[in-house]
Amino acid sequence: MKASYPVRHAPPHIAVMGGGIAGMVFAARAAELGGKVTVLEQGDDELYRCNTRYTGGAFHLCFHDIDEPAEVLAAAIKTSTAGFASEALTGAIAADARHAVRWLQTQGIRLMKTGPDAWRQHFLAPPSLMQPGLHWQGRGGDMLLRTLRRNLEARGGSLLRGARVVRLLTAEGRCTGLEYERGGRRATIEADLVMLADGGFQANLDMLRQYVSPAPERIKQRGAGVSRGDAIRLAEEAGAALAGMENIYGHLLCQDARHDDRLWPYPIMDLLAGAGIVVDRAGRRMMDEGLGGVYMTNALARLADPQGTVVVFDRAIWEGPATEFILPANPYLPLSGGTVESAGSLQDLATRLGIDAAGLAHTVKAYNAALSQGTASALSPPRTGGGARPILHAPYHAVRLMPGITFTMGGISIDGHGRVLRADGAPIPGLYAAGCCTGGFEGGVHSGYVGGLTKSATISWRAAAHALKPA
Ligand SMILES: Cc1cc2nc3c(=O)[nH]c(=O)nc-3n(C[C@H](O)[C@H](O)[C@H](O)COP(=O)(O)OP(=O)(O)OC[C@H]3O[C@@H](n4cnc5c(N)ncnc54)[C@H](O)[C@@H]3O)c2cc1C
Repeated sequence: MKASYPVRHAPPHIAVMGGGIAGMVFAARAAELGGKVTVLEQGDDELYRCNTRYTGGAFHLCFHDIDEPAEVLAAAIKTSTAGFASEALTGAIAADARHAVRWLQTQGIRLMKTGPDAWRQHFLAPPSLMQPGLHWQGRGGDMLLRTLRRNLEARGGSLLRGARVVRLLTAEGRCTGLEYERGGRRATIEADLVMLADGGFQANLDMLRQYVSPAPERIKQRGAGVSRGDAIRLAEEAGAALAGMENIYGHLLCQDARHDDRLWPYPIMDLLAGAGIVVDRAGRRMMDEGLGGVYMTNALARLADPQGTVVVFDRAIWEGPATEFILPANPYLPLSGGTVESAGSLQDLATRLGIDAAGLAHTVKAYNAALSQGTASALSPPRTGGGARPILHAPYHAVRLMPGITFTMGGISIDGHGRVLRADGAPIPGLYAAGCCTGGFEGGVHSGYVGGLTKSATISWRAAAHALKPA
């Protein structure tokens, strides 16, 4: 076949770094379009760990159905990211998410509806969100990776496990291949193009400290925790610009998840915190809880001590909002062994928690008064959104919080075809990137989350077509 860029091999040789959804969608589609594809995956195991294998499986865009009109999706992305998402990525993903997901179905990947909500219309099957804790074998993300790998191999491609990519080869400003380490040895692959898809930098404490949190060791890995920022480093060395490095995607977890695997990745404390208040040891509110769980996770991660807060709520919240959403805190937190502190008065609750009782009493009084007067947005910090409930009815409860990181939102700058961009906006020939090692789409002042699976699959699906389309 003839490609739309100068190639040294026929068929074009393609090397892919990382075997998650971003790497495997690109690999399987590039092989389908005639490329000779090798995927380098650092994991040794047949079922190597990665976030795709652990995923909940919902293809959505800002919790909208991917089949909604592209302009509705684009507007939702703009609102959720407070204008941060690049026009190019927004337009590409809003228009093509549905096509990428349909293509997955043509590959034999099963999708299902899991409820009437817009975001539940395209879930990987079989579903994984059936009980708290981590359950992935034979579930949606695992089956997706097994299917794409089978298809890749049927088209002459290969996946090399235990191969960590360590260097890019470049010549005259273009990427010409890569070097990897396997079994203590180094080897190179010459390629007409390289796709970087290593999943982000959530497992790199130095990078987290540089960009996200003063105390990253006090953030819980809420995913596979295998991505160490290698792709970002390699792309930067090749001249790439980075975007949006300061935000993460994750959720609020009960602190007991530090040592109890029944308590992560679910249940999450987001709705509980969105109905009650999050306070520090002085009993002071720390953030606008109305901006959602991903925002609060980022806010906690930025504190000097990310494990220094609790969510305080009352009986009405526990019996109301705490019972909503997927695998909610009530009943799954106590059922899974998580601690809910309870007391007949706020004073006793503060004593149990070791926080300042007078400070907590003052905060709750001001918060309740603002809610009843409709002045919550004038509180400091303000309280926005419609989820706030007063804290009035004993018993009073609290859960100690910690931020859980699933993936980092920032990374390599790309365009809507997945081409890696320099600071001046020019693409680096021969170099593509997709998935959670890329930036410029999710984030912004409110840490807006759009959807990890949809962004990863759509850009990879587009990138393969762009790279391999006949000239
Ligand atoms: C519990 C959980 C629930 C989730 N639920 C949802 C959901 O419902 N909807 C949604 O949209 N998103 C969800 N996500 C997020 C989604 O799963 C991720 O955004 C997506 O899977 C990321 O894909 P990726 O290919 O970028 O990274 P990954 O799947 O993490 O793959 C990256 C791969 O690169 C490999 N790698 C790293 N470094 C190297 C190297 N140097 N050389 C070679 N290989 C390397 C890693 O080993 C890994 O296999 C969830 C995630 C988790 C953990």
